[in-house]
Amino acid sequence: MITVTVNEAKLRELADELGIRKDIVIEVIDSDTPGISARLKGDALHQHIRLVVGRAEQFADRLMFAHNEIVRTLLHEVKHVQQFQNWTREMWERDKLYSYGVSPAEAEANEFAADNVHKWRSIITVKRPMKSRLSKLSSAEQNVRKSR
Ligand SMILES: [Zn+2]
Repeated sequence: MITVTVNEAKLRELADELGIRKDIVIEVIDSDTPGISARLKGDALHQHIRLVVGRAEQFADRLMFAHNEIVRTLLHEVKHVQQFQNWTREMWERDKLYSYGVSPAEAEANEFAADNVHKWRSIITVKRPMKSRLSKLSSAEQNVRKSR
């Protein structure tokens, strides 16, 4: 698995900039399912984001890609947190008239994420698994031994 670490200070800064009053908690879950996904957990103010990060092998050599995808995904959910705090009942009623992918709430979250992925890049750090580095090292070592 790649290691995703949340920069709590940056996350607070983002929440402040969006006027989000509650602390946002990001829970990172490793999964065997490919890809990156996130969802808000059903708290009254929806401030808990569960981020699911898929298998390492699909990202191991594409850390930049993985980093951008994760930031984009998190920004999308953070925008939803802001919406849940600020949208009126009428706005949500209107939102329900659209199909999922194109509703105003989704469109706004997607647009915010796309526009801000570079600005808020440092909201997380992403690292390769230590284990694979170590196993590479140990196989390199064995090759050296064999060649002696
Ligand atoms: Zn969404």
